[in-house]
Order: sequence, then C-alpha cells, then structure tokens
Amino acid sequence: MKNVYGCTLEDLEEYFLGIGSKKFHAMQLFSWLYEKRIESYSEVTNIKKELLDALEKEYSIERLKIVDIQEDTDVCKYLFELFDGEHIEAVLMRHDYGNSICISSQVGCNMGCRFCESGRRKKVRNLETYEMVLQLLMIEKLLGERISHVVVMGIGEPFDNYDNLIHFFQIINHPKGLAIGARHITVSTCGLVPKIEEFSDFPLQINLAISLHAPTNELRDSIMPINKVYPLDKLIPTIKRYLDKTNRRVTFEYILLKDINDSCECAEELAHLIKGINCYVNLIPYNETNNLEFKRTNTIQIMRFYDILKKNNVNVTIRKEFGGNISAACGQLRSKKEEL
Ligand code: SAH
Repeated sequence: MKNVYGCTLEDLEEYFLGIGSKKFHAMQLFSWLYEKRIESYSEVTNIKKELLDALEKEYSIERLKIVDIQEDTDVCKYLFELFDGEHIEAVLMRHDYGNSICISSQVGCNMGCRFCESGRRKKVRNLETYEMVLQLLMIEKLLGERISHVVVMGIGEPFDNYDNLIHFFQIINHPKGLAIGARHITVSTCGLVPKIEEFSDFPLQINLAISLHAPTNELRDSIMPINKVYPLDKLIPTIKRYLDKTNRRVTFEYILLKDINDSCECAEELAHLIKGINCYVNLIPYNETNNLEFKRTNTIQIMRFYDILKKNNVNVTIRKEFGGNISAACGQLRSKKEEL
C-alpha cells in the first residue's frame, strides 16, 4: 500500500483533483502532516470525513518502527524496521551548527566498493520515498529538536534510486513540508555518470558529493568496481559540465586507505586530476571494520597528504569523525540482522 509520507504536494493536489475534490486540500493536509505532525487522519479537522476515509484507503499514514537506538557522545544510531521486515539505519550527528542526519537510500547496495561494509550485502530493494522521509520525521520527533541538515550517505547508492530520491528532496525542502534548505542537503554518489548529468537539471541547489577515493583509473578500478563502467575520463568531464550548468561547487570525498591510495604521489595526482574544478576535498580517515582487511592511514601521513593538496591550492578538510564506538561511522552501517 502507498504511504502518505511519500507524496509531494503536487501528488496530493493531483489526488484530490482526481477524486473530483479541491486542490487546496493538499496544502491543508501537508500542513497537518508536517507542521502539526499528526499521526492519524482522525486528527484532521478541516477536511471532510468522507474525503479522509477515501484517502486512508489509498494512502496509509502509518509510521515505521524504530527497533534499536545506540547512543554515544554527539551521535546516535537508529535501526528502523520496514513494513516488509527489512532493516535500515540512520545516524544523527550533533554539530556546533545544528543537528544533521545521515539517511539510507536502499536496503543493501550493489556498488561493491571493496572498503565499504554497508555494501557487503547486495541490494535487496530501493527505499520508497516515504521510507526516507520517515527516517527524518521520526528521529526529529524522538529528539524533540529540529534537524537542520540532511546527508544521503547511509546504506545504498542514492543515484541508483533516483526518482524516489528526487521526491524525497521535494518533500523535505518544501516550505510547508520539512522546510530544510537545499543548501543544507547533500547527496553522495560513487559516480553514476548519467544520473549526475540528470541531476544538473534539477532546480534545487542541493550539494553534490562524489566518492572519488583514487586519482587514477587503475587504482580506482581496483577498489570501486563502478569505475569500470564510468571511468575517470567520463566522470570528471561530467562533473565539469555539472558545475558549468549549475554554478555550484562539488565535494570530492577521499578515504585514506593505508598503503593503497595514501601516498604523496597519489596526493600530487589527485591535485592534478581536479585542477581548475570548483571543489572541496574532504579527506576521510578510514573506519576499519572487522570484516575487511583495509587499514587506516596514520595521522602523520594524513597530514602529509593534506599539506600536498594545500600546497596545490586545493580547498581541503579532514572529516570530523563520529560514531566509531557504535559502528555508526561512514561505511559501517548495516542492519542488525545481517551482523548476526
Ligand atoms: N553510495 C554513496 C553513498 C554512501 S557511502 C557513495 O558512494 O557516495 C558514503 C561515504 O562513506 C562514501 O564516500 C563512502 O565511500 C564512504 N565510506 C564507505 N566505507 C567507509 C569506511 N569504512 N570508512 C570511511 N568512509 C567510508
């Protein structure tokens, strides 16, 4: 059954018009859902009961279950149970600039990045739009505080679930929806070139992050299978076109893996590869997991890598780390059931 949290305002307008009713009910309903945060249609007082009964037959208003919560300083991980019994995770991070949430976009992931724990389980299915919206809405409720920033960097490849992702953005960005500013939303992709192309026509100013992780095809092929489909000589020109079209800035994520992609030579090659691109590089200290053999680069080498990029006038930051103690760090999200 469809769920009302997967509807954009336009979807609801179409629904009400389609049953011979009035378009403005859509806005009324949106305000009940996202301003007053109702949990049952019976709380709605300005739409007729027959209309609400018909709506309920078409769109459930049921929320997901949160079946486990693990907390650490400044970070909290939530395990959601979906209606078909699958599980996904979302992580809340408390920054000095506000609360940020990292949400999942798929059950499992097919991209097969060698260093990523989340991708060890193949994709089971895409998340529906409502399953993404509810991660945000429900955590906000539990927290009793506003979530101001959203990153789509949990389990899954968001651009492999493009249409649902776009609807999710439209709902959370809408001023009468969750009203999260586009500049406070970031989507991260391993580099699905046709979707980056398509995203350059999307009107909202959402931030794009690219999981780059290697400066040459040879190296990238060896850790990210997607590079065989969309190699750097396709990816980089696509990003340049995206930037020309949108006038935005892109973030390159670069995990530092000991003795794999962390040499000073790699840093020079990286600086050369992205020369002239309006970008930030976010260096990510690798989070080791029990199941994978990759190791974290030591701090001295991280700083050397950083300095080389700086010297080449690259805007570079080292990612603040969250959630290592509760397996909530980047690439560590997997459902409880899988860990057993
Ligand atoms: N599929 C998307 C989004 C999910 S991964 C993507 O590839 O961008 C989010 C980020 O975490 C990616 O940059 C990913 O490469 C990184 N990541 C994966 N495993 C990690 C680990 N163990 N330590 C640090 N970062 C990791």
